Amino acid sequence: MSLSSMPEQPKVHALNWSRERWELWCRENKLPRFLGKQVQKWMLQKSCFDPELFSDVSKAGRELLKSSFQWDIGLTVSQTLASADGSEKILFRTHDGKYAECVVMPTENRVTMCVSSQVGCRMACTFCQTGKIGFTRHLTAAEIVGQILLGQRVLEDRGAPRTRVTNVVFMGMGEPLDNYDEVVNACRHMISSDGLGLSKHKVTVSTCGLIPEIERLGRDLPVRLAISLHSPDQESRSKMMPVNRRYPLADLKETLLRYPVGNRHGITFEYVMIDGVNDSLAHAKKLVKFLHGLKAKVNLIPMNEHPGSPMKESAAERVSDFQKYLAVRSIPAPVRYSKGQDVSAACGQLATKKRDELNQTPRSVALTRRRELIAESTPR
Ligand code: SAH
Repeated sequence: MSLSSMPEQPKVHALNWSRERWELWCRENKLPRFLGKQVQKWMLQKSCFDPELFSDVSKAGRELLKSSFQWDIGLTVSQTLASADGSEKILFRTHDGKYAECVVMPTENRVTMCVSSQVGCRMACTFCQTGKIGFTRHLTAAEIVGQILLGQRVLEDRGAPRTRVTNVVFMGMGEPLDNYDEVVNACRHMISSDGLGLSKHKVTVSTCGLIPEIERLGRDLPVRLAISLHSPDQESRSKMMPVNRRYPLADLKETLLRYPVGNRHGITFEYVMIDGVNDSLAHAKKLVKFLHGLKAKVNLIPMNEHPGSPMKESAAERVSDFQKYLAVRSIPAPVRYSKGQDVSAACGQLATKKRDELNQTPRSVALTRRRELIAESTPR
C-alpha cells in the first residue's frame, strides 16, 4: 500500500494528554515545557480551539500543534431537553457515532454539571438503566471535559444569566473508577488553575465501590467522593449490585475508614430507595451501623422508575420515616429527587431511548415522538 492510500491515523485530542506526556513531547520537539498548560488555558478558559490564535505560542509551536492534534471539542449536541425544573439534558454524539448524555443544572448561585464517564457501563446494577444497556466504550478525558464545555455553550445559547459551570458530579452514564486514568486526567483539567479552575470541593466522583481504585483516588486527587451504597446488607446489596460480590461491604467499610477525608467534608453516600427492597427501618438501622465511624452524609433518592423494570420507588411516608431514623442519629439525609424526570434525565434514560430508536423504523420513531408530544401537552 502506498503511503498516500494509507488510512489517516485519528489524531489525539489536545486535552487527552497528561502533564508528563506533554512535557515529554515538548522536550522531543524542543518546545517550552509549559506548552501543555498554555494549550489547556486557551481551550478551557478562553474556549479557543484554533491553535493559530494561540498568541503566546511561537509560530513553529502553533504549526506543530495544529498538525499534531485534533482541535474541536470532539462532541456534538444531538438533542437537548429542557426540564420544567430548569435543568437541561444533553444527548451528545462522539466522533465515532456513540451517544451518551450529560445534564446541566443551573440554580441561582451555582451551575452543576452531571457528566458521563463511559458509553454504557459494565457494572450491571439491577435498578439502573445504563446497567441494562451494557458497555460500549470508555470516554476519553477530552470527551469528559468536553461535556462541561457543551453544557456552558447550551446555557450561553439560551441566554442564561450564569453560564460557567461551578460544580461537577460524575453521576451520568458509566462507572468513573472503571475508567480511572481518563477520569483522573479530566478531574485535573477541572481543578487546575490552568484549566477550568473549579474548587476541589466541587468535583465529586461517584462510585459503586471499586476498592483498589478508591484507594488510588485517595492518593492521587483531592476531589470529593460519593459511594453508591443502596443497601447496608451484604446479601441484598449483592443482589442489587454485582460489584458487591467482588468487593464486599465489610472491605468497603475498611477502605473508607482509611480514606484520607482530610478537609474533604466527609463522604457522601447515595441511597436509591426502592419499594420493599431496601427501605425498611431494619435497613435504616443497619445503615447507621455501617456508617459508624465515618463522616457521612446520605442522599436518599426515590428510585427513578423506568420501563420494563419491576422495581418501584418507595412511598413518600417510608422515605420520610427512613430519613427521620437517620436524622435523629445525627446523620444528615436529604431527600433528592432526580432532576429532569419529565425529560427522562435520570441515569441512562435518554441514551437508552436513542438506542431503542436506532433499532426502530423511522415511522415508529415518529409515532413515539408524537405520543410524547401529546403526553407533554396534556395537563396532569
Ligand atoms: N457508577 C457511578 C455513577 C452512576 S449514576 C455510581 O455507581 O455511583 C449516579 C447515581 O444514580 C448512582 O448512585 C446510581 O446508583 C443512581 N441511579 C442509578 N439508577 C437509578 C435509578 N433508576 N433511580 C435513581 N437513581 C439511580
